[in-house]
Amino acid sequence: MNEIKRQKLNNTLHNGVWRLVDWVFPPTCPGCGIEGELICETCESKMPRLLGKRCKFCGLSVTGANICGSCRGEDHSFEAFQAYGFYTGVLRDAVMRLKYQNDIGIARKLAEYLEILVLSSNWTFDIIVPIPLSSQKLEERGYNQASRLAKPLAALLEKPYRPDALTRIKEISSQVGLDRRSRLENVSNAFRANPKIAKEKSILLVDDVFTTGATLESAASELKMAGAKKIYALTLAKTSRFVKNFE
Ligand SMILES: [Zn+2]
Ligand SMILES: [Zn+2]
Repeated sequence: MNEIKRQKLNNTLHNGVWRLVDWVFPPTCPGCGIEGELICETCESKMPRLLGKRCKFCGLSVTGANICGSCRGEDHSFEAFQAYGFYTGVLRDAVMRLKYQNDIGIARKLAEYLEILVLSSNWTFDIIVPIPLSSQKLEERGYNQASRLAKPLAALLEKPYRPDALTRIKEISSQVGLDRRSRLENVSNAFRANPKIAKEKSILLVDDVFTTGATLESAASELKMAGAKKIYALTLAKTSRFVKNFE
């Protein structure tokens, strides 16, 4: 059985199992607590999306050019970036569940949001790669939240899921208060890419939250050095200096 067929079957089984789990243990909406919904329609409709014209590197609202003032003149290793919504309200609560409560159910729902973004873009890519955690962090948490998004997304899009393309060799200390150059220094050498997988490939990189973009930039630059053709960066949420509650 080829990889895509295997993923499809896996997804069908996965959905079947989850329907049963949802029936035995009904999910609750992280926004309002209503039972029986992963994220209810009312909370979904209130989600602050990144709509309108956006900078293709950082998602900032722009008029005219598709690159904002602060991204202009900077080198970027990825072609473009998109996030589904701002890291606040129900989306933030959902990411918390994904990240700290081992909630696989919510990951399925959130992967559907990412699918919407990809399908409405003109991005073409060969493989899907999650931003990895270091082995130490992975051991502490037990799972990687970016993989929890990337794997069902790969199944939805029928693309190969390749978490083995990228390894994290160091965790990144807090980026708060650092300027762009210091942030990039802080994340340099944080990842190692596998040229056997990355070479000649266009890659969709997936993470949960975009804060400064430095993590995505560092991962993308390693993949490029390993011979990747093009990198597209996708996250579920983006922090905003206008929106409180971000880490
Ligand atoms: Zn709700
Ligand atoms: Zn920008």
